Amino acid sequence: MSVTKAYAAQTATSKMAPLNIQRRTLRPDDVAIDILYCGVCHSDIHQAENDWGNSIYPVVPGHEIIGRVTSIGPNVTQYKVGDIVGVGCMVDSCCSCSSCHAGLEQYCENGMVGTYNGKDYYDGTLTSGGYSEHIVVREAFVLSIPDTLDIKAAAPLLCAGITTYSPLKHYGVKAGDKVGILGMGGLGHMGVKYAKALGAEVTVFTRSQSKVAEAKLLGADHVIVSTDADQMAAATLTFNFLLDTIPVAHDFNPYLNCLKVDGAHIIVGLVTGIDPPIWGASLITKRRILAGSMIGGIAETQEMLNFSAEHGINCEVEMLDIQNINVAYERMKKGDVKYRFVIDMNSLKKS
Ligand SMILES: [Zn+2]
Ligand SMILES: [Zn+2]
Repeated sequence: MSVTKAYAAQTATSKMAPLNIQRRTLRPDDVAIDILYCGVCHSDIHQAENDWGNSIYPVVPGHEIIGRVTSIGPNVTQYKVGDIVGVGCMVDSCCSCSSCHAGLEQYCENGMVGTYNGKDYYDGTLTSGGYSEHIVVREAFVLSIPDTLDIKAAAPLLCAGITTYSPLKHYGVKAGDKVGILGMGGLGHMGVKYAKALGAEVTVFTRSQSKVAEAKLLGADHVIVSTDADQMAAATLTFNFLLDTIPVAHDFNPYLNCLKVDGAHIIVGLVTGIDPPIWGASLITKRRILAGSMIGGIAETQEMLNFSAEHGINCEVEMLDIQNINVAYERMKKGDVKYRFVIDMNSLKKS
Protein backbone atom coordinates (compact mmCIF):
# COMPACT_ATOMS: atom_id res chain seq x y z
CA MET A 1 0.00 0.00 0.00
CA SER A 2 1.09 3.55 -0.53
CA VAL A 3 -0.26 6.85 0.77
CA THR A 4 -1.38 9.46 -1.74
CA LYS A 5 -2.68 12.98 -1.29
CA ALA A 6 -6.29 13.51 -2.38
CA TYR A 7 -9.30 15.79 -2.06
CA ALA A 8 -12.45 14.23 -0.65
CA ALA A 9 -15.96 14.92 0.58
CA GLN A 10 -16.35 13.42 4.06
CA THR A 11 -20.14 13.83 4.19
CA ALA A 12 -22.93 14.98 1.86
CA THR A 13 -22.72 18.50 3.24
CA SER A 14 -19.00 18.95 3.84
CA LYS A 15 -16.84 20.84 1.35
CA MET A 16 -14.13 19.08 -0.63
CA ALA A 17 -10.98 19.04 1.53
CA PRO A 18 -7.52 17.42 1.61
CA LEU A 19 -7.32 13.79 2.74
CA ASN A 20 -4.56 11.18 2.58
CA ILE A 21 -5.76 7.88 1.09
CA GLN A 22 -4.21 4.46 0.40
CA ARG A 23 -3.48 3.01 -3.01
CA ARG A 24 -3.13 -0.77 -3.23
CA THR A 25 0.11 -2.62 -3.86
CA LEU A 26 0.30 -3.56 -7.54
CA ARG A 27 -1.35 -6.83 -8.57
CA PRO A 28 0.23 -8.67 -11.51
CA ASP A 29 -2.01 -6.91 -14.07
CA ASP A 30 -2.00 -3.45 -12.46
CA VAL A 31 -0.63 -0.16 -13.76
CA ALA A 32 0.39 2.62 -11.32
CA ILE A 33 -0.26 6.11 -12.65
CA ASP A 34 0.98 9.53 -11.56
CA ILE A 35 -2.05 11.77 -12.24
CA LEU A 36 -1.32 14.92 -14.26
CA TYR A 37 -4.83 16.20 -15.04
CA CYS A 38 -8.36 15.36 -13.99
CA GLY A 39 -11.56 16.72 -15.49
CA VAL A 40 -14.45 17.78 -13.26
CA CYS A 41 -17.76 16.12 -14.21
CA HIS A 42 -21.25 16.94 -12.90
CA SER A 43 -21.38 13.37 -11.56
CA ASP A 44 -18.55 14.34 -9.21
CA ILE A 45 -20.83 16.88 -7.54
CA HIS A 46 -23.81 14.50 -7.48
CA GLN A 47 -21.75 11.82 -5.75
CA ALA A 48 -19.91 14.17 -3.38
CA GLU A 49 -23.31 15.51 -2.27
CA ASN A 50 -25.09 12.10 -2.34
CA ASP A 51 -27.74 13.29 -4.81
CA TRP A 52 -28.23 9.71 -6.02
CA GLY A 53 -28.41 8.25 -2.50
CA ASN A 54 -25.60 5.73 -3.04
CA SER A 55 -22.48 7.59 -1.96
CA ILE A 56 -19.99 5.90 0.35
CA TYR A 57 -17.75 8.34 2.22
CA PRO A 58 -15.15 9.59 1.95
CA VAL A 59 -15.82 10.26 -1.74
CA VAL A 60 -12.72 11.11 -3.79
CA PRO A 61 -14.29 12.08 -7.15
CA GLY A 62 -12.67 12.26 -10.58
CA HIS A 63 -13.18 9.98 -13.58
CA GLU A 64 -11.53 11.94 -16.37
CA ILE A 65 -7.94 11.07 -15.56
CA ILE A 66 -4.78 11.63 -17.59
CA GLY A 67 -1.44 10.57 -16.15
CA ARG A 68 1.96 8.98 -16.62
CA VAL A 69 2.74 5.33 -15.90
CA THR A 70 5.17 5.02 -12.96
CA SER A 71 5.26 1.23 -12.54
CA ILE A 72 3.63 -1.90 -13.89
CA GLY A 73 2.81 -5.38 -12.59
CA PRO A 74 4.70 -8.38 -14.07
CA ASN A 75 1.81 -9.42 -16.37
CA VAL A 76 1.28 -5.99 -17.95
CA THR A 77 2.07 -6.02 -21.66
CA GLN A 78 0.41 -2.95 -23.22
CA TYR A 79 2.02 -0.20 -21.15
CA LYS A 80 5.48 0.74 -19.95
CA VAL A 81 6.86 3.25 -17.47
CA GLY A 82 6.59 6.78 -18.88
CA ASP A 83 3.56 6.19 -21.14
CA ILE A 84 0.80 8.82 -21.08
CA VAL A 85 -2.46 7.04 -20.30
CA GLY A 86 -6.06 7.72 -19.39
CA VAL A 87 -8.64 6.30 -16.99
CA GLY A 88 -12.33 6.99 -17.47
CA CYS A 89 -15.49 6.19 -15.53
CA MET A 90 -14.80 2.54 -14.72
CA VAL A 91 -11.82 0.58 -13.44
CA ASP A 92 -13.16 -2.98 -13.63
CA SER A 93 -16.11 -5.21 -14.53
CA CYS A 94 -16.86 -8.94 -14.15
CA CYS A 95 -15.33 -9.72 -17.57
CA SER A 96 -17.49 -12.86 -17.86
CA CYS A 97 -21.08 -11.75 -18.60
CA SER A 98 -22.52 -11.29 -22.06
CA SER A 99 -22.14 -7.49 -21.91
CA CYS A 100 -18.48 -7.76 -20.97
CA HIS A 101 -17.91 -10.33 -23.73
CA ALA A 102 -19.49 -7.89 -26.17
CA GLY A 103 -17.10 -5.11 -25.14
CA LEU A 104 -19.87 -3.31 -23.28
CA GLU A 105 -18.25 -3.29 -19.85
CA GLN A 106 -20.27 -0.20 -18.92
CA TYR A 107 -23.40 -2.38 -19.01
CA CYS A 108 -21.80 -5.30 -17.09
CA GLU A 109 -24.63 -7.45 -15.74
CA ASN A 110 -22.80 -7.89 -12.47
CA GLY A 111 -22.04 -4.19 -12.23
CA MET A 112 -19.06 -2.25 -13.52
CA VAL A 113 -16.72 -0.91 -10.86
CA GLY A 114 -16.83 2.88 -10.87
CA THR A 115 -13.53 4.73 -10.78
CA TYR A 116 -14.76 6.19 -7.51
CA ASN A 117 -17.52 5.22 -5.12
CA GLY A 118 -17.22 1.65 -6.42
CA LYS A 119 -16.22 -1.59 -4.69
CA ASP A 120 -13.13 -3.48 -5.80
CA TYR A 121 -14.04 -7.01 -7.02
CA TYR A 122 -11.15 -8.67 -5.17
CA ASP A 123 -10.91 -7.09 -1.75
CA GLY A 124 -14.10 -5.02 -1.48
CA THR A 125 -12.24 -1.78 -0.84
CA LEU A 126 -13.82 1.53 -1.86
CA THR A 127 -12.48 2.95 -5.11
CA SER A 128 -11.17 6.52 -5.08
CA GLY A 129 -10.94 8.71 -8.16
CA GLY A 130 -8.72 11.19 -9.86
CA TYR A 131 -8.67 14.09 -7.41
CA SER A 132 -5.46 12.50 -6.13
CA GLU A 133 -1.76 12.23 -6.87
CA HIS A 134 -1.71 8.57 -7.91
CA ILE A 135 -4.02 5.76 -8.90
CA VAL A 136 -3.62 2.01 -9.47
CA VAL A 137 -5.81 0.46 -12.20
CA ARG A 138 -6.06 -2.92 -13.99
CA GLU A 139 -4.34 -2.75 -17.34
CA ALA A 140 -7.53 -3.75 -19.18
CA PHE A 141 -9.22 -0.52 -18.02
CA VAL A 142 -6.34 1.81 -18.89
CA LEU A 143 -6.51 3.78 -22.16
CA SER A 144 -3.68 4.85 -24.40
CA ILE A 145 -3.57 8.60 -25.13
CA PRO A 146 -2.51 9.39 -28.72
CA ASP A 147 0.46 11.77 -28.61
CA THR A 148 -1.13 14.38 -30.87
CA LEU A 149 -3.87 15.12 -28.31
CA ASP A 150 -3.37 18.04 -25.92
CA ILE A 151 -3.44 16.04 -22.70
CA LYS A 152 -5.03 18.79 -20.59
CA ALA A 153 -7.97 19.13 -22.94
CA ALA A 154 -8.16 15.37 -23.53
CA ALA A 155 -9.05 14.55 -19.91
CA PRO A 156 -12.81 15.24 -20.33
CA LEU A 157 -12.94 13.05 -23.44
CA LEU A 158 -12.87 10.10 -21.02
CA CYS A 159 -16.40 10.89 -19.84
CA ALA A 160 -17.94 13.80 -21.75
CA GLY A 161 -16.32 12.62 -25.00
CA ILE A 162 -17.30 8.96 -24.89
CA THR A 163 -20.79 9.75 -23.56
CA THR A 164 -21.58 11.61 -26.77
CA TYR A 165 -19.42 9.62 -29.22
CA SER A 166 -20.82 6.20 -28.32
CA PRO A 167 -24.52 6.80 -29.12
CA LEU A 168 -23.71 8.66 -32.35
CA LYS A 169 -21.66 5.62 -33.46
CA HIS A 170 -24.16 3.07 -32.16
CA TYR A 171 -27.02 4.61 -34.13
CA GLY A 172 -24.85 4.92 -37.20
CA VAL A 173 -24.81 8.69 -37.66
CA LYS A 174 -23.30 9.37 -41.08
CA ALA A 175 -22.73 12.04 -43.69
CA GLY A 176 -25.92 13.84 -44.60
CA ASP A 177 -27.84 12.92 -41.44
CA LYS A 178 -29.51 15.75 -39.58
CA VAL A 179 -28.55 15.66 -35.92
CA GLY A 180 -29.92 17.90 -33.18
CA ILE A 181 -27.95 18.44 -29.99
CA LEU A 182 -30.10 19.39 -26.99
CA GLY A 183 -28.19 21.52 -24.50
CA MET A 184 -24.74 22.95 -24.93
CA GLY A 185 -22.69 22.32 -21.81
CA GLY A 186 -19.81 19.88 -21.31
CA LEU A 187 -21.64 17.05 -23.09
CA GLY A 188 -23.48 19.07 -25.73
CA HIS A 189 -20.44 20.87 -27.07
CA MET A 190 -18.67 17.51 -27.52
CA GLY A 191 -21.76 16.15 -29.27
CA VAL A 192 -21.54 19.00 -31.79
CA LYS A 193 -17.90 18.20 -32.55
CA TYR A 194 -18.41 14.44 -33.00
CA ALA A 195 -21.60 14.76 -35.05
CA LYS A 196 -19.83 17.24 -37.35
CA ALA A 197 -16.78 14.98 -37.66
CA LEU A 198 -19.09 12.10 -38.66
CA GLY A 199 -20.39 14.27 -41.48
CA ALA A 200 -23.80 15.19 -40.08
CA GLU A 201 -25.60 18.49 -40.47
CA VAL A 202 -25.75 19.69 -36.87
CA THR A 203 -28.28 21.88 -35.11
CA VAL A 204 -27.97 22.99 -31.49
CA PHE A 205 -31.18 23.46 -29.51
CA THR A 206 -30.70 25.98 -26.71
CA ARG A 207 -33.03 27.95 -24.46
CA SER A 208 -30.88 31.02 -24.60
CA GLN A 209 -30.39 33.38 -27.51
CA SER A 210 -26.99 34.24 -25.99
CA LYS A 211 -25.61 30.80 -26.94
CA VAL A 212 -26.37 31.07 -30.65
CA ALA A 213 -23.06 32.64 -31.70
CA GLU A 214 -21.07 30.30 -29.46
CA ALA A 215 -22.76 27.21 -30.87
CA LYS A 216 -21.81 28.29 -34.37
CA LEU A 217 -18.22 28.93 -33.28
CA LEU A 218 -18.08 25.33 -32.06
CA GLY A 219 -19.16 24.11 -35.47
CA ALA A 220 -22.97 23.93 -35.37
CA ASP A 221 -24.56 24.54 -38.78
CA HIS A 222 -27.80 25.87 -37.27
CA VAL A 223 -29.18 26.90 -33.90
CA ILE A 224 -32.80 26.67 -32.76
CA VAL A 225 -33.89 28.68 -29.73
CA SER A 226 -36.20 26.13 -28.12
CA THR A 227 -38.33 28.73 -26.36
CA ASP A 228 -39.29 30.21 -29.75
CA ALA A 229 -42.46 28.35 -30.82
CA ASP A 230 -42.09 29.42 -34.47
CA GLN A 231 -38.56 28.05 -34.71
CA MET A 232 -39.67 24.77 -33.11
CA ALA A 233 -42.66 24.45 -35.44
CA ALA A 234 -40.44 25.04 -38.47
CA ALA A 235 -38.28 22.09 -37.36
CA THR A 236 -41.16 19.55 -37.38
CA LEU A 237 -40.17 16.23 -39.03
CA THR A 238 -36.65 17.32 -39.98
CA PHE A 239 -34.20 15.35 -37.77
CA ASN A 240 -32.81 11.81 -37.93
CA PHE A 241 -31.35 11.95 -34.43
CA LEU A 242 -31.59 14.08 -31.32
CA LEU A 243 -28.83 13.75 -28.72
CA ASP A 244 -30.35 14.98 -25.47
CA THR A 245 -27.73 16.18 -22.97
CA ILE A 246 -30.13 18.20 -20.79
CA PRO A 247 -29.66 17.03 -17.16
CA VAL A 248 -32.92 18.40 -15.74
CA ALA A 249 -36.58 17.57 -16.44
CA HIS A 250 -37.89 19.05 -19.69
CA ASP A 251 -40.78 18.48 -22.09
CA PHE A 252 -39.75 15.83 -24.65
CA ASN A 253 -42.88 16.14 -26.82
CA PRO A 254 -41.90 19.24 -28.83
CA TYR A 255 -38.49 17.69 -29.55
CA LEU A 256 -39.95 14.31 -30.56
CA ASN A 257 -42.12 16.12 -33.10
CA CYS A 258 -38.91 17.38 -34.73
CA LEU A 259 -37.88 13.79 -35.57
CA LYS A 260 -38.59 12.22 -38.95
CA VAL A 261 -40.11 8.74 -39.29
CA ASP A 262 -37.84 6.24 -37.45
CA GLY A 263 -35.89 9.10 -35.88
CA ALA A 264 -34.27 8.49 -32.49
CA HIS A 265 -34.22 10.68 -29.38
CA ILE A 266 -31.24 9.57 -27.29
CA ILE A 267 -31.02 10.52 -23.62
CA VAL A 268 -27.53 10.90 -22.15
CA GLY A 269 -28.04 13.61 -19.54
CA LEU A 270 -31.25 12.95 -17.60
CA VAL A 271 -31.22 10.26 -14.88
CA THR A 272 -34.46 11.21 -13.11
CA GLY A 273 -38.09 10.95 -14.25
CA ILE A 274 -39.43 12.46 -17.46
CA ASP A 275 -41.82 15.26 -16.60
CA PRO A 276 -44.17 16.24 -18.20
CA PRO A 277 -44.97 12.75 -19.55
CA ILE A 278 -44.26 11.72 -23.13
CA TRP A 279 -47.37 11.24 -25.25
CA GLY A 280 -47.40 7.75 -26.71
CA ALA A 281 -48.58 9.39 -29.91
CA SER A 282 -45.33 11.37 -30.13
CA LEU A 283 -43.59 8.02 -30.69
CA ILE A 284 -46.30 5.87 -32.30
CA THR A 285 -47.37 8.14 -35.11
CA LYS A 286 -43.92 8.24 -36.72
CA ARG A 287 -42.37 4.97 -35.37
CA ARG A 288 -39.93 7.08 -33.40
CA ILE A 289 -37.39 5.63 -30.96
CA LEU A 290 -36.71 6.84 -27.43
CA ALA A 291 -33.32 5.58 -26.25
CA GLY A 292 -30.65 6.06 -23.62
CA SER A 293 -26.89 5.56 -23.57
CA MET A 294 -24.18 5.56 -20.91
CA ILE A 295 -20.46 6.21 -21.63
CA GLY A 296 -18.90 3.44 -23.80
CA GLY A 297 -16.91 0.21 -23.51
CA ILE A 298 -13.14 0.20 -23.18
CA ALA A 299 -12.45 -0.67 -26.84
CA GLU A 300 -14.89 2.01 -28.00
CA THR A 301 -13.33 4.55 -25.62
CA GLN A 302 -9.95 3.84 -27.22
CA GLU A 303 -11.58 4.22 -30.65
CA MET A 304 -13.02 7.59 -29.53
CA LEU A 305 -9.58 8.80 -28.37
CA ASN A 306 -8.00 7.76 -31.68
CA PHE A 307 -10.88 9.36 -33.64
CA SER A 308 -10.46 12.57 -31.62
CA ALA A 309 -6.73 12.68 -32.39
CA GLU A 310 -7.37 12.02 -36.08
CA HIS A 311 -10.00 14.78 -36.32
CA GLY A 312 -8.29 17.28 -34.00
CA ILE A 313 -11.15 17.11 -31.51
CA ASN A 314 -10.60 18.25 -27.93
CA CYS A 315 -12.77 19.48 -25.11
CA GLU A 316 -12.91 23.23 -24.42
CA VAL A 317 -11.48 23.53 -20.91
CA GLU A 318 -10.78 25.95 -18.09
CA MET A 319 -7.80 24.96 -15.93
CA LEU A 320 -8.21 24.79 -12.18
CA ASP A 321 -6.03 24.44 -9.08
CA ILE A 322 -7.49 21.81 -6.78
CA GLN A 323 -7.59 24.33 -3.92
CA ASN A 324 -10.38 26.07 -5.88
CA ILE A 325 -12.53 22.96 -6.37
CA ASN A 326 -15.36 24.18 -4.12
CA VAL A 327 -15.60 27.44 -6.08
CA ALA A 328 -15.64 25.40 -9.30
CA TYR A 329 -18.54 23.27 -7.99
CA GLU A 330 -20.58 26.40 -7.19
CA ARG A 331 -19.89 27.80 -10.66
CA MET A 332 -20.85 24.51 -12.33
CA LYS A 333 -24.16 24.46 -10.47
CA LYS A 334 -24.90 27.80 -12.16
CA GLY A 335 -23.75 26.55 -15.55
CA ASP A 336 -20.83 28.97 -15.41
CA VAL A 337 -18.04 27.03 -17.13
CA LYS A 338 -16.88 26.80 -20.74
CA TYR A 339 -17.12 23.88 -21.01
CA ARG A 340 -15.26 21.71 -18.54
CA PHE A 341 -12.96 22.39 -15.60
CA VAL A 342 -9.74 20.39 -15.58
CA ILE A 343 -7.64 20.19 -12.43
CA ASP A 344 -3.89 20.64 -12.88
CA MET A 345 -2.75 18.02 -10.39
CA ASN A 346 0.53 19.84 -9.88
CA SER A 347 -1.48 22.08 -7.56
CA LEU A 348 -2.10 19.07 -5.28
CA LYS A 349 1.50 17.88 -5.42
CA LYS A 350 2.77 21.32 -4.38
CA SER A 351 0.36 21.64 -1.44
ZN1 LIG B 1 -18.58 11.97 -15.83
ZN1 LIG C 1 -19.76 -8.26 -16.83
